[in-house]
Amino acid sequence: MANIVAIVGRPNVGKSTLFNRLIERKQAIMDDEAGVTRDRHYGVAEWTGKYFTVIDTGGYVVGSEDTFEEAIRDQVQIALNEASVVLFMVDTKTGMTDLDKDFAKIVRRMKKPALVVANKTDNTELQMMYHEFYGLGIDDVFPISANNGSGTGELLDRVVELL
Ligand code: GDP
Ligand code: MG
Repeated sequence: MANIVAIVGRPNVGKSTLFNRLIERKQAIMDDEAGVTRDRHYGVAEWTGKYFTVIDTGGYVVGSEDTFEEAIRDQVQIALNEASVVLFMVDTKTGMTDLDKDFAKIVRRMKKPALVVANKTDNTELQMMYHEFYGLGIDDVFPISANNGSGTGELLDRVVELL
């Protein structure tokens, strides 16, 4: 059980969309209790014959009493404990936010292999925008579109190299 890839990042950047794409078969497990959706998802993915477990760490629920800080702490805890590779996801359409910068500091401190995934890079216009994320201080930045799949092959090539 060594090959574990955790997807972290602030709400709404597209973590679950990428997760669903990677595991191919939809394995969304929703555990509804008392109006709270606990969505800690695990799924198995395969790329070029290598199998790995993907974790969608997004547990933040809009409108709940969770805070961003708690969400970050929970995600980081999961990633720290379990991940061999961390995919730190950001959103090219929105651009860099303060929360992204806070996340980046923590991810860098983890000392685990981490890649920045610049999601929502859906078209060539947005391809010009993602470079700002090199400012997060993590060497590898991959522009992708979790919606249409572009860039995900290059990302996965790198992920399986790091496993
Ligand atoms: P999460 O909160 O990080 O898990 O984000 P979700 O996967 O739930 O996605 C949040 C929103 O972003 C949804 O409306 C998605 O359809 C949208 N989204 C996800 N990936 C992409 C993408 O590659 N391009 C665009 N334009 N929208 C996306
Ligand atoms: Mg999600």
